[in-house]
Formats: sequence, C-alpha cells, structure tokens
Amino acid sequence: MTYNIAVLDGDGIGPEICNGAIKVLKRVGEKFGHTFNFRHLLIGGCAIDATGSPLPEETVNACLASDSVLLGAVGGYKWDNLPGDKRPEKGLLGIRKAMGLYSNIRPAKLWKSLAKASPLKYELVKDGVEIIIVRELIGGIYFGDRERGTDKNGAEYALDTEKYSVPEIERITRIACELAMKRSKKLVSVDKANVLETSRLWRKTVHEYAAKNFPEVEVTDVLVDNMAMQIVKNPAQFDVVVTSNIFGDILSDEAAQVTGSIGMLASSSLGDTARGLYEPIHGSAPDIAGKDIANPIATILAAAMMLRDSFNLTREYDAIESAIQKVLDKNIRTADIMEEGMIKVSGSVMSDLIADVI
Ligand code: NAD
Repeated sequence: MTYNIAVLDGDGIGPEICNGAIKVLKRVGEKFGHTFNFRHLLIGGCAIDATGSPLPEETVNACLASDSVLLGAVGGYKWDNLPGDKRPEKGLLGIRKAMGLYSNIRPAKLWKSLAKASPLKYELVKDGVEIIIVRELIGGIYFGDRERGTDKNGAEYALDTEKYSVPEIERITRIACELAMKRSKKLVSVDKANVLETSRLWRKTVHEYAAKNFPEVEVTDVLVDNMAMQIVKNPAQFDVVVTSNIFGDILSDEAAQVTGSIGMLASSSLGDTARGLYEPIHGSAPDIAGKDIANPIATILAAAMMLRDSFNLTREYDAIESAIQKVLDKNIRTADIMEEGMIKVSGSVMSDLIADVI
C-alpha cells in the first residue's frame, strides 16, 4: 500500500526528531512492503518567518489531502513576544480545528528498562506501565459559556460552564472502544458522577454506547479523585482510559509524570476519519535544538501510532515498539534518559539503531 504523510517539522528540534521518525518509517516500508510518501509543510515559527502566518493555507490543504499528519513541535524564543493570534502555537490549534480532531490520545508508557526514571517506587513500576488516556478535546468546560460580573451584593464573580451532549460523548467513546479492541478490551471511564450532572450523562452514554457497539469491551467507572490516587498508587492496573476534556488534561499530565521522561511520550489527535495528527508531547526544546542530542523516540512512537491507529498496521506498530525496547535493552540512551553505566548516543544514532533493528 502507498500512504501519503504530511510532515509538519515545525521549529527547534522539530526537524531533527521528524527526520528520525521518517528514517524508521522508511525502514518499516522496506520490511513490510509499504510506500510512505512524505510532503514537508510549514507550521509555527518557521511558517511565520516564511509567510507571515503560523498556519499557511497550503499546509491546511495538504494536511486535508494527506492520509495522515506527523508533527514535530512549534515555538521558540524568537517568536515569544508576538501577539496571541500570530504566535506559533496558533498554528497547532488551527490545524487541529481544520482537521476536525476531537479526541486526544496520550499513552503514558514507562518502559521496563527505564523504570528507575519514574518518581514512583521501583516495585510499583518494575514491570512497566502503559496508561492510554483518551481525552475529549473540543468540548466541556474549556469550550462552554463563561462570564465575569458583579452579583446583586456587589461581589465579583466568574462562571464557567461544563456541557456535553450525547453525540459528543458517543464519538469519543467510539475512539476509546476501538483502541481498547486493539488492546486489552478493557476500558476505564473517568467522571465525577457522584456530583456532576454532565458526568452522570457521560457515564450512562459511555455504557450504553459501548454495550451496543462494542459488546466485547468491558467498561469500568472510576471517579476522578480516586483515579488521581490510583495513578500514583498502582498505575499498572490501567490500560485504556476515556474521560472529559478537563479531567483528561489533568490526568494525562499526571500519568506522563509517572514515566519520568518527556522525550519518550507521543500523542495523537483523531476525528471522524482515519486521518489523524501524531506528535510527541514535548515542545520544540529550543535549548537543545541543532545539537543532535534530542531524543527522537517520542516522535518515532507517534509515527508508530499513526501506522496502528490511522492505517490499521498493527504488526508494523509492534515492530517499532519492539525495536525501541531492544535498543533500550542494549543499554543505549540519549542524554535525557542517560544513567550511569549506559552508552550515550546522539539523537540521529538512536533513530539509526532503532531503524536497523526493525
Ligand atoms: P519543551 O518540551 O520544549 O522542553 C522542556 C524541557 O525538556 C527542555 O529542557 C528540553 O530540552 C527538554 N526536552 C524536550 N523534548 C526533548 C527531547 N525530545 N529530548 C530531550 N530533551 C527534551 O517545553 P518548553 O521549554 O516549555 O517549551 C519550548 C517551546 O516549545 C515553547 O515555545 C513552547 O511554546 C513550545 N511548545 C510546543 C509544543 C508543541 O508543539 N506541541 C508543546 C509544548 C511546548
């Protein structure tokens, strides 16, 4: 099969890490008989410099015409003082909106060989951890009506509104269930149904939708306060987790912290079609850009997720994941995950080694 991938390298370490992921994808193509075509497009600071806009129309059109999109990262000191609508980050929000992406999937994976990087006790994480949080991305309290005013007693007040409709909950449940079907078939839904009306509708809808459309998926409910505790108490108990925008925002950062390494975590955003946006969770790291020391693994994993979740290439996903594991097992590390007694390599050597193992 041939797949057309739009590559938004972005700023800072973006081009280096995308390069690493492309190397690995090309190797997967050779091994499994696929052709990956890459078209590089501008986004963020480099797009501002070249065109005056953080998201040129050509980029949007090419992304919409592609089979999927790989993004490095945007931003940097140079553009820090521009007004809000001219900033590199505006390009990111714009492309998510233009592609109609309403879910964000963030696997917080702690590799067995990096268990010592976790701030949690070794016994809790020694067998590895992988919590995949599926977060609703364009609804809920972040997008609800808000208001600031003064009440009849003269007190200043502020108001934010949480609102979810059944179709909004159903579509995110579909994405979570599809992912659960490719994994353990177990789904945890996180809400605050003991207090919030939106959560009660969330819980009812998740169960009804999953039972009707994905009868094999076992759905369990966890209250958000308990979830926050369980992630640090026993993170290995979770696989796929679905939740609202605000709970997902907070819990995905907590889960990422459990892994102890920002250079190893990827995320994807999906909407109604198979086309997604895949990226590392870290930023453009301007402090280390151009030095070939950035860890490419988060972006390589983002590319692997693209193969599995947009192109249904599960074997190819597994091949990349196991190649990363093998390289880590050989004690090879980039600077950010370096420990005593390990072998330190540059970012480009790390991607070469991963590609070689596939
Ligand atoms: P950052 O994630 O870029 O960097 C935080 C720290 O982690 C830095 O010390 C950096 O060197 C290190 N780091 C990040 N990725 C690494 C990697 N792959 N390998 C090794 N070390 C890595 O966050 P920041 O410093 O807060 O932001 C820098 C710029 O990135 C800002 O302009 C910010 O707006 C932007 N940003 C972009 C995105 C995105 O494009 N999705 C996300 C977050 C921040």
